[in-house]
Amino acid sequence: MVAYKRVLLKLSGEVFGGGEVGLDLDVINATAAEIAEVAKSGVQIAIVVGGGNFFRGAELQQRGMERARADYMGMLGTVMNCLALQDFIEKHGVETRVQTAIAMGQVAEPYIPRRAIRHMEKGRVVIFGAGAGMPFFSTDTVAAQRALETRCEVILMGKQGVDGVYDSDPHLNPAATKFDRLSFDEYLARDLKVADATGIAMARDNRMDMVFFNLSTPGTIGRAVRGEKIGTLVSS
Ligand code: UDP
Repeated sequence: MVAYKRVLLKLSGEVFGGGEVGLDLDVINATAAEIAEVAKSGVQIAIVVGGGNFFRGAELQQRGMERARADYMGMLGTVMNCLALQDFIEKHGVETRVQTAIAMGQVAEPYIPRRAIRHMEKGRVVIFGAGAGMPFFSTDTVAAQRALETRCEVILMGKQGVDGVYDSDPHLNPAATKFDRLSFDEYLARDLKVADATGIAMARDNRMDMVFFNLSTPGTIGRAVRGEKIGTLVSS
């Protein structure tokens, strides 16, 4: 069991919406409380925030929008999640900084990796918003990139209501089987969809482990950070 010192936590948009469109402040508050507790224990935390609870570019494209513009809307949605999370983590007594990949000086700092590391060293939780600032990317890929650039030891993929990686969608197939461990190559060969393939390939090429776990179970962020065997470990 390895306890991590610096982790990258990816929170998908569905965590923020509690499965609905918009924000579920009770869920955000509970998640923020766990993050604050882990931060107070001395673990450095960076968070990449998704935005699927507001907009997904691909879905807006299917409904007739131009993809790149729709993707920018998706990125802006992630920033609202960042601000909500920032608010609740600070209510739980931990300092935070939001850094966005699209400049918006009144609400957040720009993404400056060395400054992000410095914040973490000072015990601040760093929240990354607006994805990569580039259409046609996903926040899963950004999670891998930010983890690498800010030298995190692991990517913790917090999911809403799903406790790991399954061989098929457990919501659609009751016979779906969960993996405890899985290699990146097997993940890609099976064309699994829990995180997008670009992010998985980036993690594989740079030997950055990923742990998929269920955020809806109380205490799981702390357990993941302590290196307990939860969810699914995807590694080389
Ligand atoms: N997005 C983007 N570039 C990025 C990150 C996100 O264009 O670097 C857009 C994309 O439209 C995506 C949306 O923002 O659908 C929300 O992000 P994502 O789907 O990754 O959120 P999650 O699935 O984690 O809720």
